[in-house]
Amino acid sequence: AELYGIDEWSNGYFGVSDAGDVQVKAPTAEGEAAVSLTEIIDGLKQRGLDMPVLLRLENLIDTRISTLNESFADAIRMSGYQNHYRGAFPIKVNQQNHVIAEIARFGERYNHGLEAGSKAELMIALATLKNRESLIICNGYKDAEFIDLGLQACKLGFKCFFVLETLTELALVIERSRVLGIEPLVGVRLKLSTKVEGHWAEDSGDRSLFGLNTNELVNVVDILRDANLLHCFQLLHFHLGSQIPNIRSIRAGVLEACRYYIELIGEGAPLGYMDLGGGLAIDYDGTSSTSGHSRNYSVKEYCIDVVEAIQESLDEHDIAHPVIVTESGRATVAHTAILLFNILDITHFEPSPLPETLPSDCHEMIENLWHSLSEIKTSSLQESYNDVIYYRDQIRDLFHRGDISLRNRALGENIYLAGLQKIVQLLPQMKRIPAELETLPQQLADIYYGNFSVFQSLPDSWAIEQVFPVMPIHRLNEEPTRQAIIADLTCDCDGKLKKFAGPHGDASTLALHPINVGEEYYLGVFLVGAYQETLGDLHNLFGDTNVASVRINADSTIDFVHELHGDSIADVLSYVEYDPNALYQQFRSTAEQAVRDGIITIADRQQMLAAYSESLRGYTYFER
Ligand code: PLP
Repeated sequence: AELYGIDEWSNGYFGVSDAGDVQVKAPTAEGEAAVSLTEIIDGLKQRGLDMPVLLRLENLIDTRISTLNESFADAIRMSGYQNHYRGAFPIKVNQQNHVIAEIARFGERYNHGLEAGSKAELMIALATLKNRESLIICNGYKDAEFIDLGLQACKLGFKCFFVLETLTELALVIERSRVLGIEPLVGVRLKLSTKVEGHWAEDSGDRSLFGLNTNELVNVVDILRDANLLHCFQLLHFHLGSQIPNIRSIRAGVLEACRYYIELIGEGAPLGYMDLGGGLAIDYDGTSSTSGHSRNYSVKEYCIDVVEAIQESLDEHDIAHPVIVTESGRATVAHTAILLFNILDITHFEPSPLPETLPSDCHEMIENLWHSLSEIKTSSLQESYNDVIYYRDQIRDLFHRGDISLRNRALGENIYLAGLQKIVQLLPQMKRIPAELETLPQQLADIYYGNFSVFQSLPDSWAIEQVFPVMPIHRLNEEPTRQAIIADLTCDCDGKLKKFAGPHGDASTLALHPINVGEEYYLGVFLVGAYQETLGDLHNLFGDTNVASVRINADSTIDFVHELHGDSIADVLSYVEYDPNALYQQFRSTAEQAVRDGIITIADRQQMLAAYSESLRGYTYFER
């Protein structure tokens, strides 16, 4: 299990049982309960949910919300901060009904609210939140209809803030508020000059896409004052980017925002809310570093730093402490979902057994390659590598010119592979591995074909090279003797996982077990609860996977609280504007014509139509 760094990235929510299975260590009201993922898979099978399955762990949604709220509460208590924390979950991070419902249900005790970036998301928030103490934060571009919805929410007693992304939005907010006779709650998104590291660095700094610069901020104050609405300006917002790796940048951003806060109070804006947006990062690769897939701080440290930075800045000016708001998405839901899939096949890059001696009619180049193979030793690996590559190329050229036979070429390729494998085996004995040989283990790694689509289920791994922890979920008492990369079902050369979390992070191959004949081999991709579901697409028409939500009880029994069958083939075809019935009719007439032409019998036709119809109802993934 150490190979996969599970203790580093799991935050204690997953571990390995004595039997070698990955277990969910679910916090419950009466303590921790452990259940193995293979047991959950058995339950899924009984319910007709085949692989791949996206598994949601409800206990973890609850735990993450309480961790965030309790950590802020602790930091506030310890420092004597004179206000409270309010969370607002950004709906875009996981819009699924069941997830939002659970966040709203469990978050009610903490007045945990929702952040909406569009009309559709605001409509979800309005229908889901029951507690009027919870905040609704409206980001994104807003038209009159969006603003009207938000104003109605204020009338209903919700604290629904319009965060201005541009100056032009303000005129519309004022106009609609006059028309409806409802005062708005206004926030401003600041464009801070603090820049952060990581993939989302461009969300911060002068050229960030969103937010108002200082000049525009002054205009907002003037316009609101002229409209007698300055008292509505109650929230200051900034978002430095998602997955901020370094706590020092977060502190710097908060300090810069505090300067604006102080000045705005001086201008007569009442404020009272400081919204830090998202950015609270999680440790995908288990390195606790600023690698970009990790972070150099804990949730607890984040809360303490934020609280202290605001407190210290404002105390100097005798300004009342604001309500602290964050829109943490990733940190709330990433841990709560696992993609489970089975392995369908493996390609090995290994030679077949070599002959004892070479056939007498061998070409000289094959003899040279054979000799190079016998000469491979640790002291001259680079030299051997050069020789092996040289003779391989010579043999390929000879084949292209018709100077050696197919069988001789096959023998040459086989000797070449044997040479590379021998070099890879000796690599660890070298003091310093030459640059050219560094990627050799990856070039020779097995390809394990997984029953899933990267584009549908792990789009960030393709789009931004996000590392997700991947590991077998069973057989962890056996040594994984193979090194592999994982390919998906799409016929796209980008459809693969090729960077893995491990003790060192960012490894280019993953240690896996050989497959036992007649047995399924299951892998899990962890920490996939944030962003992946919504960003996924229909590449090669692989649709939504089956989804199951489970709740683990204190006695380690499992409640399958929600099951959702993934897209059928008819579903995905209709997404791209095919009418499945029309397709069936077209296929029927093709088969009919074949009967008329005497190519197939009527019985064949019946069989084909039944199979076509059955496939339309079937799962888009590989079915055993
Ligand atoms: N708030 C805003 C305005 C965002 O743009 C984002 C995401 O980029 C978030 C919150 C959520 O960020 P995270 O998932 O890093 O918490």
